[in-house]
Amino acid sequence: MTLTGIEQFTVRRSSAEQSCASVLPPTGHFIGGTFLPGSSTRHIDVVDPTTEQVIASVQAGTASDVDLAVEAAVAAQKSWGATTPKERSEVLSLIANIIETNREAFEIIESANTGKPRTVAEDDVSSTIDTFRFMAGASRTLTSMAGGDYATGHTSVILREPVGVVGVITPWNYPLLMAAWKIAPILAAGNSIVLKPSEQTPLSTLKLAELVAGRIPDGILNVVTGQGRTVGQRLAEHPDVALIALTGSVVSGQAVAETAGRSVKRVHLELGGKAPVVVFPDADLRAAAAGVRNAGFWNAGQDCGAACRVLVHESVAEEFTEHLVREVGTLVVGAPGAGDDVEIGPMISRPHFERVKESLAEAKAAGLQVAIGGSALEGPGYFIEPTVISKVPAGAHIATHEIFGPVVTVESFSSTEEAITRANESPYGLSASVWTRDSSLSLSVPKQLDFGTVWVNSHLVLACEVPWGGFKGSGYGRDLSLYALDDYSRTKHVMINHGA
Ligand code: NAD
Repeated sequence: MTLTGIEQFTVRRSSAEQSCASVLPPTGHFIGGTFLPGSSTRHIDVVDPTTEQVIASVQAGTASDVDLAVEAAVAAQKSWGATTPKERSEVLSLIANIIETNREAFEIIESANTGKPRTVAEDDVSSTIDTFRFMAGASRTLTSMAGGDYATGHTSVILREPVGVVGVITPWNYPLLMAAWKIAPILAAGNSIVLKPSEQTPLSTLKLAELVAGRIPDGILNVVTGQGRTVGQRLAEHPDVALIALTGSVVSGQAVAETAGRSVKRVHLELGGKAPVVVFPDADLRAAAAGVRNAGFWNAGQDCGAACRVLVHESVAEEFTEHLVREVGTLVVGAPGAGDDVEIGPMISRPHFERVKESLAEAKAAGLQVAIGGSALEGPGYFIEPTVISKVPAGAHIATHEIFGPVVTVESFSSTEEAITRANESPYGLSASVWTRDSSLSLSVPKQLDFGTVWVNSHLVLACEVPWGGFKGSGYGRDLSLYALDDYSRTKHVMINHGA
C-alpha cells in the first residue's frame, strides 16, 4: 500500500475570486420586519476563511436586542398562529421562490463566508429551497389524533397548536440550510421565530431576512446576531420563548438545555456526531471507498454526519484502505472560485484550523499511520490536506472525538458482534452506515446500531421526507419530515360534556 507523507495536495487559488461585496445584506438585527442598529456599538468581524480577510462586520447583539426581538415575535405570533395551513403554506412557497430567484447571491455569500466550494454552496441552496417547498406541502397534511368518546357523555377533541415563540441557534457549517431546517417547520406549525446565526457565518441568514422583508408578515422571523454566551443565552432563558432549538456542539447544547431547564422550556438539540462506517467483508469495497470519499470529505468533513470513522473487517482492511487512499488522492483542494472540480475548501476559522492540526499532531505523536495527507496546507486560508489514518487501534482519541475536518480514520474488527459493539461505543448517536451485500446483515445490523440514521450501502444521503436527528450525545428532536412539525407543535385535549 502506498503510505505517504507525500506533498501531493496543494491549494488551487482563483485568479479572479468573485467578490461578495455587491450582494452583502444589511448588518443590523432584523426585528419586526426591519433592520435595526442594536443597542451596542460593538461589532463582530466576519472573515473569509479562504483569504483570511474581513468581509463584513455584524452587530454584537445584547440581551436587550433579544428582548426586543422576542416582543416582536410574541406580537406577530398571535395572528400568524391563527392563519390556516393554506395561508402559511403560501408564505413558505413564497420564501422558496425568493431564494430560488436570488440563488446566485446566496451561493456567493455562502462560499465567501465559509470557503465552501461552489458545488457545495449550490447543493446547500437547492436543499434550502426544497426544505421550504416540502414544509409548504407537508404543513397542509397535518392532522391530530382523531377525537372520540372516552368518558360517558363526553366527547374528546385533540387539537394541534403552535408552541408560540421559538428561539433558534444555528451553526457555521451549513449556515443557510441549517437555518432553513428550523425556519420552515417552525413557521409551518404556526410559530414565530427569533434566530441567532453563528457569529462566524451570519451573512446568508441576514440576506434571507433582507429579501423576505415586507413580503412575509412582519415579526414572524427575527434575526439577532451575536455571540452564543450573550444572545444565545438570553434566548434560552427568556420567559416568553416557549422552545429553544439549537444545532451545534455538545457543549453548547448542554449550556442551552441547562439554562432552558430553569424556565421549563422545551429544548430541541441537533448536536455533534462521529459516524461509523461499518464495512463487512462481502461489501463492494470500491463502492464503499467511493462512498467515504464523498461522505467523509463533503464540506471538508465539517459535517455532523461525516463518514469519518471506518470500521472494516480485518480480512479486507488492507484492500479497502488502498481503494480509499486512491479515491482520496483525487480530491482537489482550493478556493471556491478555482474551478468546478474543487471539492475541499478551508476550515471555517483559525481556531478550528488549529484544533484540527492539533488532532493530527496528536495522532502522529501516538504513532498512528498516516496513509495520505496529514498536514496543513500553505496559507492564506485554513486548508488541511484530505487525510486518511489507517490501522487505528480501538479507542484512539482521533477515532472517538469529533474532528470536524477532512480526516477519516480506519480501524478493523474481526466479528459482527465486535463491529456493532465498537460502533456503539461512541458517545454520539447521530448517524452510521453499513456496507454489505448480505440481505440479512443489511437489516439486522442497523437494528442494533444506536444512531438516529443508519444507511446501508450509502452515506449522507438526505431527503426532506425523512427525519434527521440523533440519540445519546447527539441530542434529541428531529429536523425535516413530519416529525419536525410534531416537535414544533403542542397537543391540547378539549373534552366536551354533552350528556347533562
Ligand atoms: P457551536 O456549538 O460552537 O455553535 C453553534 C451555535 O451555538 C452558534 O450560533 C453559537 O454562537 C451558539 N452557542 C455557543 N455557545 C452557546 C451558549 N452557551 N448558549 C447559547 N448558544 C451558544 O457549534 P459550531 O462550531 O457552530 O458547529 C459545529 C458543531 O455543530 C459540530 O459539533 C457539529 O457536529 C454540530 N452540527 C450538528 C448538526 C446536526 O444536525 N446534528 C448539524 C450541523 C452541525
